[in-house]
Amino acid sequence: MVIAYIIACVFFIVGIKKLNHPNTARQGNMLSAFGMLIAVVAVFFESEVTASWNTSNWVQNGYLWCFLAIAIGSAIGLVWSKKVKMTGMPELVAIYNGFGGLASALVAFSQFLKDPDGSNMSEAIAIGLTIFIGSMAFSGSMLAFGKLSERITGRAIVFKGQKAINLVFVLACVAGMIIYVIPGIDTGTKFLAIVMLTAISLIFGVTFVLPIGGGDMPVVISLMNSLSGLAVVSAGFIISNTVLIVSGSLVGASGIILTLIMCKAMNRSIGNLLFSGFGATDAVSKGGPQSEPKAVSTEDAYLILEAAGSVVFIPGYGMAVAQAQHVVKELAEKLEENGAEVSFAVHPVAGRMPGHMNVLLAEADVPYEQLKTMEEINPSMPTQDVAIVIGANDVVNPAAETDEASPIYGMPIIKAHEARTVFVLKRGKGRGFSGIDNELFYMQNTLMVYGDAKATISSLAGEFTAN
Ligand code: NDP
Repeated sequence: MVIAYIIACVFFIVGIKKLNHPNTARQGNMLSAFGMLIAVVAVFFESEVTASWNTSNWVQNGYLWCFLAIAIGSAIGLVWSKKVKMTGMPELVAIYNGFGGLASALVAFSQFLKDPDGSNMSEAIAIGLTIFIGSMAFSGSMLAFGKLSERITGRAIVFKGQKAINLVFVLACVAGMIIYVIPGIDTGTKFLAIVMLTAISLIFGVTFVLPIGGGDMPVVISLMNSLSGLAVVSAGFIISNTVLIVSGSLVGASGIILTLIMCKAMNRSIGNLLFSGFGATDAVSKGGPQSEPKAVSTEDAYLILEAAGSVVFIPGYGMAVAQAQHVVKELAEKLEENGAEVSFAVHPVAGRMPGHMNVLLAEADVPYEQLKTMEEINPSMPTQDVAIVIGANDVVNPAAETDEASPIYGMPIIKAHEARTVFVLKRGKGRGFSGIDNELFYMQNTLMVYGDAKATISSLAGEFTAN
């Protein structure tokens, strides 16, 4: 069994390595999924499961429960992954994280029922920790799902004494774990302690995520991902399962690395992001809308583009909504044929998940060399003839640099406003994810091209074909 688990782990690790590059990412996903298949099949050969084969009591038959779990899990996973849109992927990830945490907490709870006295101290500590982290990751992820899918407000919700209440919750959870672990306390009290630990951990997950909102949500998802990984590791220690320990460590480590990368991309410390309650107010950029933004037709925009020597595309969430990546590639080719130098500026948190834009552009076969990071493109921005902002908003909002009251203040942006001419492609006056206005739209060098991004880009590409 151990050999099968080690082989599964090797598949996971090689799979993750291959996710490093768009060209090998699909293969990486398949390898990791195959590793998971090996791990699942190996469970059928675990001694507890094989021993239950001949039992006369069907409730105790491990195979029945395994098949039932596989059937229900596969059905939900299949339907959901078919239905989910690319833009809804972060919500799906939030749900997966939550269920990962819940599954670990349930493993810990079942072990607690086997040993309600906590007689094996190291196992009891792992049980307490798993229930705490797993329950918190579950409720926190469910709230993050609600915020991301806009079922509840995405804004940070803060109230007086929030930090003190959270501290009390953590201390109560630690007390619950201690009561379960120390010998000599009666079983009834220990049972109550574990029930209290579970309930407070679930509430703590909610109060922990409530004060985080707006553009900080991707970081929360990634942090919850990391926590669910830690819960899996801890559950792996309880039932001595190698594959849980290794896969949980991979999830935990990659989640925390991604969290830190995203904090860096937003120029925020993790402490500031989790505890400052940023985005709780209805902030509007300093200066506000001075006048109506200037709008142009695609015919007029074509005339400027036709004369451009360099063009940078800045994609954002709106490109994903419009599914405009293929027509963007087409327009980029026409611009190149026309002699322009073309590049794509990719902000690390553009869209609704890390790497969202990279995935879409790779899907449209945009050459990898044309993709520029924020650090690579910004110094060249003043020399770019045209910047085409395709459904991006927060990631090009100058308020992040100039307005200290802005919820996105301090987040590095792609400096679209420094290009000679900026075209902003959006449908109307909709705001970005953080809900604030954008000074870029009112600047002298900015021209709005209203409409669905796919229709606008198709029309621009059509102008090149026609002329
Ligand atoms: P934003 O969400 O700030 O803005 C998207 C813009 O797209 C809107 O202003 C909208 O305006 C426009 N839009 C929507 N649909 C279309 C369409 N069909 N055609 C044309 N335009 C359209 O996007 P950004 O990518 O700039 O910023 C991402 C934000 O999301 C950041 O605040 C980030 O922190 C946050 N976030 C990022 C995650 C990540 O990991 N990448 C995850 C979760 C949140 P209009 O309605 O007028 O068309």
